[in-house]
Amino acid sequence: MDNASPVHVVCAGCGAKNRIAAARLGDRPLCGRCGESLLDDQPVELTDANFDAVTAGTELPVLVDFWAPWCGPCRAMAPQFEQAAQTLRGRALLAKVNSDDNPAVSARFGIRSIPTLVRLQRGREVTRQSGAVAASQIVRLATG
Ligand SMILES: [Zn+2]
Repeated sequence: MDNASPVHVVCAGCGAKNRIAAARLGDRPLCGRCGESLLDDQPVELTDANFDAVTAGTELPVLVDFWAPWCGPCRAMAPQFEQAAQTLRGRALLAKVNSDDNPAVSARFGIRSIPTLVRLQRGREVTRQSGAVAASQIVRLATG
C-alpha cells in the first residue's frame, strides 16, 4: 500500500464512501457524513442491506464473523474477535453478521456452521475458516 494515497473505507452506518489517508488509518477515523467511527477497536455490524456496499467499497481486507446469539462457540469467540479488531485497527476491517437476522448474505456465502470467518478483498472471498479460533489466528486470517 502506498502510504501517500488515500484508501476508501465505506461507513457501515450510513454507506458513505470515505477517503482516508493511509497514514491516518490507525487514528480511529470518523465518517465524514454521519460521524460514526469507521475503523475503531470494535467490529462493525453488517447486514443484508449494507454488506455489499461496505465489503466491495472498502479497500482494506474485510474479515466477517458469521455468528448467532444462540451459538455458544460464537459467544465464546466474541472477545477473541474484539481483541483481534484492536490488534488490527487501521489494517483490516472486522465485521460481524448475525446469520439469523441476515439470511440473504448468509445463504449467498453458503454458511452451514457458525462461527465461520470469511475474509474478503474488495467484496471477493479470499479465504474462510469454520469453528471458533483464538485472536492470534483471527489476526493471521485477516492479514496473512
Ligand atoms: Zn457514516
